[in-house]
Amino acid sequence: MKRVIAIDGPAGSGKGTLARKLASHFGFMYLDTGKLYRAVAYLNKSINETLNLAAREIFDVITNIPDSDLRTAEIGQRASEIAKNTEIRSKMTKIQRDFAELQNGHGFVLDGRDIGTVVFPDAMCKLFITADLKIRAERRLQDLRKNGEKITYDEVLNQLANRDYQDTHREIAPLRCDETYTLIDTTSKTEEESFQECVTEISKKML
Ligand code: C5P
Repeated sequence: MKRVIAIDGPAGSGKGTLARKLASHFGFMYLDTGKLYRAVAYLNKSINETLNLAAREIFDVITNIPDSDLRTAEIGQRASEIAKNTEIRSKMTKIQRDFAELQNGHGFVLDGRDIGTVVFPDAMCKLFITADLKIRAERRLQDLRKNGEKITYDEVLNQLANRDYQDTHREIAPLRCDETYTLIDTTSKTEEESFQECVTEISKKML
């Protein structure tokens, strides 16, 4: 069993914030795998060109392009489209496993949609973070507005619903929670309450 904490869940569930805080709490490395898909969407290349990209070119985007340019609603939609492609998913899975391998047994937190189902099915701990669609839309609206985007609540709600549908209905590596995950619903919890719940779950698995 790898010293991997797999965190999956839909957009706007708060999994990114929790994953980052958990990595820092346990002294583990952290990788936001959604950013890898966003980086590919940002590069906006054909499928063949994307398949030929070196992992370094994808990490270069993550390192050098400001978060605000990667976290737009448009890039999120495009990333979700790209993420349906089987070959691109295989490439991304390999990049994520190689990255973990480079950590030399160091603990590692990854968040995404298929971390506990496909990328690291033998992860030490799997958390599925979710929240009601309306709450997620409100949270995402705040993030996008902070980012300077002019977007309405209804537009965000529709985009999230559309992404949820695509991410849960695609043929390969759909987002799904099974009995190997601990489900954490953040709808009516503060960030701190959700964080403490995750810490308790992970600590149990580390015993
Ligand atoms: O998490 P984030 O919203 O940044 O992810 C953008 C899109 O990338 C998701 O909607 C999903 O389609 C795709 N993705 C994925 N598998 C992952 C991470 C993200 O399919 N592990």
